[in-house]
Amino acid sequence: MRPKPEVPAVYHVKEIFYSLQGEGARTGRAAVFCRFAGCNLWSGRERDRDRALCAFCDTDFRGTDGEGGARFAAAGQLADAITATWGGGCGPGIRPYVVLTGGEPLLQLDEPLITALHDRGFEVAVETNGTRPAPPGLDWVCVSPKAGVELVQRAGDELKLVYPQPGAAPEAFAELDFRHFFLQPLGGPDQMVHTRQAVAYCLAHPRWRLSLQTHKLLGIP
Ligand code: SF4
Repeated sequence: MRPKPEVPAVYHVKEIFYSLQGEGARTGRAAVFCRFAGCNLWSGRERDRDRALCAFCDTDFRGTDGEGGARFAAAGQLADAITATWGGGCGPGIRPYVVLTGGEPLLQLDEPLITALHDRGFEVAVETNGTRPAPPGLDWVCVSPKAGVELVQRAGDELKLVYPQPGAAPEAFAELDFRHFFLQPLGGPDQMVHTRQAVAYCLAHPRWRLSLQTHKLLGIP
């Protein structure tokens, strides 16, 4: 008997979990988070950090071994897994919400997946580094630009800039086509210094608002 041909994996997903959005304009909103594996600005390996285009990442996006992580061979399969993870029920005033994140989700996200999620009643958000164009049909586009790389996705709902980033001053983004502008203090040992700097910038430039990673403060995923 001939061996069955292996079905190619279409989507590589690190993890899928249910939590509250911790950052930005939708802080506090219940959501399924679907973290795609892989990023185009860093391999995710510590040994490669020195040559990463994005040097401050603290996210584990390698592989498919996280909670709910897997290789999904079709958009419907991944949308079903996301639906099964939604813990908010349904009913009047409730719209299931999914945040597609990474890694860099736009390396894998496509229109069939957005359609499959819409078919299941989801409002669909993406959090991207903006180096690739977002496919049409998304309900919420959050872009987090990185210094030294070309910003391709220059419009959306929310621009969330990690601050300070040498080579990525807020002034370079303030006139882009976004509804919300956030500064999010760079983490690490100097996080309090960065937070004070972000506060000072927002006070002087009220177009910008402060975004804190409240999920980390609360100890939730
Ligand atoms: S772009 Fe995002 S996921 Fe990729 S290395 Fe930077 S912070 Fe991490």
